[in-house]
Amino acid sequence: MSTRENARFVCPACTRSIAVTDAVRDALVENGCAVCGADVDLGAFDAAETA
Ligand SMILES: [Zn+2]
Repeated sequence: MSTRENARFVCPACTRSIAVTDAVRDALVENGCAVCGADVDLGAFDAAETA
């Protein structure tokens, strides 16, 4: 059972940076930053480079 993080979230409000999976990314966009509760949009995520 492996859960790959495939994006990095950097909160625009609290600047917290965490690696996230697609599911976690979707949850953050829906619910806001897990740390500070700020609204989150897809611009706060950097897709991991998988060439
Ligand atoms: Zn935050």
